[in-house]
Amino acid sequence: MNQEYRVLLYYKYVSIENPEEVANEHRQFCTDLGLKGRVIIASEGINGTVSGTIEQTDAYMKYMEEHLLFSGTIFKIDEASEHAFKKMKVRYRPELVTLRLEDDIDPNVLTGKHLEPKEFFAEMQKEDTVVIDARNDYEYDLGHFRGAVRPDILNFRDLPQWIRENKKEFEGKKILTYCTGGIRCEKFSGWLLQEGFKDVSQLEGGIVTYGKDPEVQGELWDGQLYVFDERISVPVNRKENVIVGKDYFTGEPCERYVNCANPECNKKILCGEENEYKYLRSCSHKCRVHPRNRYVAEHGLSEEDVTERLTAIGKEVII
Ligand SMILES: [Zn+2]
Repeated sequence: MNQEYRVLLYYKYVSIENPEEVANEHRQFCTDLGLKGRVIIASEGINGTVSGTIEQTDAYMKYMEEHLLFSGTIFKIDEASEHAFKKMKVRYRPELVTLRLEDDIDPNVLTGKHLEPKEFFAEMQKEDTVVIDARNDYEYDLGHFRGAVRPDILNFRDLPQWIRENKKEFEGKKILTYCTGGIRCEKFSGWLLQEGFKDVSQLEGGIVTYGKDPEVQGELWDGQLYVFDERISVPVNRKENVIVGKDYFTGEPCERYVNCANPECNKKILCGEENEYKYLRSCSHKCRVHPRNRYVAEHGLSEEDVTERLTAIGKEVII
């Protein structure tokens, strides 16, 4: 693989007075430079993933370092053979990560203790430690730290409610949290402290940094890391390879995500190529027979073709 491209993942919590203006300026700079990616700018800071050539990403990091607001941003750098996005989008949003808190958390004021990968590796193996995955269920299902708690949530904003409902599980324990690049934990760990939990730590730099650490080499991570760009998943554990993803239909080991072909459902399902064909890339019978099913349209299937596949599924059709 020729690695002439890079993917940068970064965030910085910093107070921005005129975020919409800053977003417009930033969009112009990134577009002129030829970067592609997704950047969010809010009054509480910046969060982005961008891809570009080595020269482009170098120029961007230099620009950020010289920027009045964004100087000091830490970049996680992945090598790549091509762009990881199709377009460059820079958007203003009211929040960087959405927790919908009554009292929002400023991580510069209140946040959990930061642990380096090596410290996190040691701490997570101690008794009385509980590791909470601060991501969504579909991210957990593709890969996670061995033994980590999987919050049963579809959206990050539902996490506080879920913690309150399951409070007993965590009381009196040392809590470790982790997420992809660290941004969600900055807020979430602060919220846990505000909620009254005493001992709260977070993985500095997130899973991405953990996987690159020359000493731990991603140890105790099982599966792949879900990422929000065209790569969809990247490896973490360089010592061993355990597959935890399971095919939605058959439960066989699987690390391939597709979106349900019903445009009104769009659910992320792990599914091998064979089952994608068999089940028309749809999560349920209802989705398979949806009049705007994308799989049917993409493959130009006739009504007879669809009936034939549905018959082949036959009595198995529970989902
Ligand atoms: Zn569906």
